[in-house]
Amino acid sequence: MRKKIVAGNWKMNKNFEEGMALTSEVVNMVKDEVSADKVTVILIPPFIHVHAVAALAKGSPVLAGAQNCHQEVKGAYTGEVSAEMIKSCGATHIILGHSERRMYNGETNALLATKVNVVLATGLTAIYCCGETIEQRNAGKHFEVIESQVKEGLFHLSAAQMKQVVIAYEPVWAIGTGVTASTAQAQEVHAFIRKLLTDRYGKETAESICILYGGSVKPDNAAELFSQQDIDGGLIGGAALQSRSFVDIAKAC
Ligand code: PEP
Repeated sequence: MRKKIVAGNWKMNKNFEEGMALTSEVVNMVKDEVSADKVTVILIPPFIHVHAVAALAKGSPVLAGAQNCHQEVKGAYTGEVSAEMIKSCGATHIILGHSERRMYNGETNALLATKVNVVLATGLTAIYCCGETIEQRNAGKHFEVIESQVKEGLFHLSAAQMKQVVIAYEPVWAIGTGVTASTAQAQEVHAFIRKLLTDRYGKETAESICILYGGSVKPDNAAELFSQQDIDGGLIGGAALQSRSFVDIAKAC
């Protein structure tokens, strides 16, 4: 039985004060309202808040993560942040390959494969994102796109390493648009990803890996999405910027 995950990606939102207020609210609400046995809640702020978010959440079931890291361990990479630095700030998870980074920063599957390596070698969990654009879906190419994202970014890993990865399926056309994939569309892709994992790693490993859905998840659609056999929670953008809606999504698990 996979434990569900609800992770809030703040993107480039919230100044320090706002981020601390949101963290405190979420931590208090989660303590009172969310069963820690059922769902892992993760706050994923901008880098500069990670240490403080992790410190505020310490001792609670809420975890902290980061939205990206550099592929090298350390060195002369001005403006970059390493997985080890993120870990030393108290974070446990790092998002890799969010569609905004693929789009605006030219991140490729090959680059992401190297980032996955560094995250896992640091002992953190990678939340590896995949998902098709609307043009790719309309052309009937979505399975092909997702297959190459998953295979090229992840399938060099051993089964043991793969168990340190969470996959997030985020159709690009559903991110921040208010348009959610239908439950059937989302489950179809999640089952497809699970089948890829089964073919490569076997049933036991494939069944242990969490596959999150992301794309306009809100409190009123979360329960139905999360009730699907292969949907193990959500990566939440807009609705994670408000404590009430984010915690309500966690409660929908
Ligand atoms: C995201 O960017 O990961 C995301 C899912 O955003 P939203 O929930 O706002 O669609």
